[in-house]
Amino acid sequence: MSHAMTLPPQQALIGGQWVNTAATMQVEAPATGEPLARIARCQAEEVDAAVQAARQAFAGQLGEWASWSARQRSEWLLRFADVIEAHQEQLAQLECADTGKPMTQAKGDISACARYFRFYGGAADKLHGETIPFENDFAVMTLREPYGVCAQIIPWNYPAQIFGRCVAAALAAGNTIVLKPAEDACLSVLCLAELAVNHSLPAGALNVVPGFGYEAGASLAAHPQIDHLSFTGSPETGTQVAQAAAQHHVPVTLELGGKSPQLVFADADLDAALPAVVRGIIQNAGQTCSAGSRLLVQRDIAESVVAHLCERFAALRCDAGEADASCGPLINARQKAKLEARLAAAEADGICVAARGQLASSAPVGGHFVLPQLLTDIPDGHEVLKEELFGPVLVVQVFEDEAEALALANATDFGLCAGIWTRDGGRQLRLAKGIRSGQVFINNYGAAGGVELPFGGVGRSGHGREKGFEGLRSYTRIKTIAIKH
Ligand code: ADP
Repeated sequence: MSHAMTLPPQQALIGGQWVNTAATMQVEAPATGEPLARIARCQAEEVDAAVQAARQAFAGQLGEWASWSARQRSEWLLRFADVIEAHQEQLAQLECADTGKPMTQAKGDISACARYFRFYGGAADKLHGETIPFENDFAVMTLREPYGVCAQIIPWNYPAQIFGRCVAAALAAGNTIVLKPAEDACLSVLCLAELAVNHSLPAGALNVVPGFGYEAGASLAAHPQIDHLSFTGSPETGTQVAQAAAQHHVPVTLELGGKSPQLVFADADLDAALPAVVRGIIQNAGQTCSAGSRLLVQRDIAESVVAHLCERFAALRCDAGEADASCGPLINARQKAKLEARLAAAEADGICVAARGQLASSAPVGGHFVLPQLLTDIPDGHEVLKEELFGPVLVVQVFEDEAEALALANATDFGLCAGIWTRDGGRQLRLAKGIRSGQVFINNYGAAGGVELPFGGVGRSGHGREKGFEGLRSYTRIKTIAIKH
């Protein structure tokens, strides 16, 4: 498909200019393992130049960003949402080829990206501080100020969506940005940045430094002149970037993944629950931080639910993203090898593969495909129940009653999302309060992406919130002004 695709600039965006970097690197298509593009490989000097450009844009020494009012930012963001939608086809093609995800999902991701710009565009001029009653001879107010230069390190699983989530919110609040997209998939991000520049985003407001995590990412996280860091990725890398940022007391938002449970009770509407359970783990081949990767099912219905899910899993097909099958490839050979090693160890431990999907006959040779699968008969405390597998693998556990369901749901260091499927209203709320996670979905899962809904984790899933108004506030800090009169 790559011949029909218009590639974005394969350079770094610094101070409104596309600049060549000293080094470059190859990105490959996950569906074939073949080269897709050669992109910039930024090093410390280029990251530093990008941070300086962002600083100057924030301080009003470069471009007109600092002079824009909240209303001007709002208007630009709203216009940019239309631009994204007008380029949906091109962006979705890039996202599909670069990440390997099915085309329908890629298109949905581009729509979500546009929605972030529309949501935060609408919110930019509605963000305000407070006045506070104090002593009678005082007037006290708070200002919500942008931090300044926001460093954003984002992953390869949802490049366009996470670009929307981070960039739209940070710009809406008046910050400038240095964004480090992931080495495995960043073409849609480069294309979005090109569109932003071509649609008159002032120079330096958004800078993009593609490259490896250990080079560009590490330089950015440790840079002494960033004012805020938001990171989405693995818990291990999250620890590293937070430690680097702590050297300069830079506040961080960490969004780090999960092992999110779906709880299905005997009184649930199974016609609604079971397709959602499958979707929750198959989406993006399970490479989703909020994947519903654990199914907890009540004993009375466990046998029939598993039998039903086996049919659904057996019918799943893996193919290249453009074929728009149920499941695409994993992102790279390393992720595939890691998952396959864990699955082999699980089988060696006697865990049952109750059902597997199939590879479509049209699937390209050389793609990083792992078949969707359903694992049952898992010993308590086994690794597959605790670790994020980041693939299309659903693990099943059986519970007797509400108390056991809650204990199992919370038997994890992660805490990002949970799904509760029951018709009992009291139980819905008891569990929603009892589950340790940032989001809880009752009789649905994922709320269709939920651009408007605060999102983030507890424990090993990270801290801080993105999305919704909460995400916008998290790109601001409060200044208190006390006036004696
Ligand atoms: P994965 O292992 O799934 O690729 P990571 O958490 O390593 O997940 O990657 C998420 C993002 O973090 C990517 O943009 C990656 O380049 C970046 N990254 C990786 N290592 C570091 C690091 N040491 N410092 C800063 N960023 C990093």
